[in-house]
Amino acid sequence: MRDRVQSVRAFSLTQHRQTPYLGALRSGEEPNAKGYFVRRGNGTVYPIFDRSVLVRIETASGMAGWGETYGLVAPGAVGAIIDDLLADFTVGRNPADPAAVYDDLYDLVRVRGYTGGFYVDALAAIDIALWDIAARLEGVSVTELLGGVVRDRIPAYVSGLPETKIDARAELAKSWQSRGFNAFKFAAPVADDGLTAEIAALRAALGPDARIAADMHWKYGAHDAIEEIRAMAAHGLWFAEAPVRPEDVTGLETVCRNAGVPIAVGEEWRTHHDLRNRIDRCGISIVQPEMGHTGLTGFMRIAQLAGRHGLDVIPHATVGSGVFLAASLHASAALEPVTGHEFQHSVFESSRGLLDGDLACTEGFYTAPGGPGLGVEPSERALSRLKPI
Ligand code: MG
Repeated sequence: MRDRVQSVRAFSLTQHRQTPYLGALRSGEEPNAKGYFVRRGNGTVYPIFDRSVLVRIETASGMAGWGETYGLVAPGAVGAIIDDLLADFTVGRNPADPAAVYDDLYDLVRVRGYTGGFYVDALAAIDIALWDIAARLEGVSVTELLGGVVRDRIPAYVSGLPETKIDARAELAKSWQSRGFNAFKFAAPVADDGLTAEIAALRAALGPDARIAADMHWKYGAHDAIEEIRAMAAHGLWFAEAPVRPEDVTGLETVCRNAGVPIAVGEEWRTHHDLRNRIDRCGISIVQPEMGHTGLTGFMRIAQLAGRHGLDVIPHATVGSGVFLAASLHASAALEPVTGHEFQHSVFESSRGLLDGDLACTEGFYTAPGGPGLGVEPSERALSRLKPI
């Protein structure tokens, strides 16, 4: 008999971290009463802790699956969307067909313009949990359900070097190089001496063979971005990420056509429509879907569209317990166009102990977790910290 969804519940999970994301706070970056602060380098709000939203779905037969999405700010917004709307339209559905559920839920409010943001974040968490269940019902891993293993090991690049001084960041990168990693990315908002000085210091520390990318955090106009990228290119730049504001499609096109270095974008996208609206026009080289925003259904569609246009897919990694990272690795193991994956070592380390299951990144490679399903689930420690929202 066909199984059906019986319950959908959302929780927040908050985790203390030693050093704030992207490193210690600079002057003028004081947290408010809720623990939020604004990075002066990019005008973006972050919490001083780690937080995500987890979703648990249970079926009539007693099978359970987990999903996850962003909870960095206003996790209650995602919780309300699930509790007030999406849960009731998910209950009763066939968990073996997550893409059909995804499309129906997406359609509920698309003509009101809710085609991204918190709405699709909430949908992503439900979608990941349904894929987890669908694979468990078949007794296979999510990778196998998505089409099978293309690669066992996924090349990882080290991202985020949370030290306050340029020399210390270069030293930290070098310590990762000695542990078998040879690809790195630095972040513009905390490159206090400028982008060119940052890449020069990293290049001097890491040698000529290391891959070094720059995350420009959407903070430049097109012409300034091109100048910065050309200056960095003299030191061997692997790719430049997010050079202009997310809405500036014309600026993105200008940068892609003139910078002379591969341009990577897409961590803020929710669906393949975001890629489709840029793919013919912009000349993007690398697409960086974020599982916590896209869910598995959206992620697969973005990666497959990218693959049909000959683009590389190098997925984004962000703050979470590891559930959506596991989903991202399962998809990456199954997708031909994936050539690498971001490794946020500080998040990875601070979330250690929150998951049961294999989630490893050593000597430059992730291994996709085994199955069944996602092959991971929240540990006792994580479960004891979940707060219903
Ligand atoms: Mg980024």
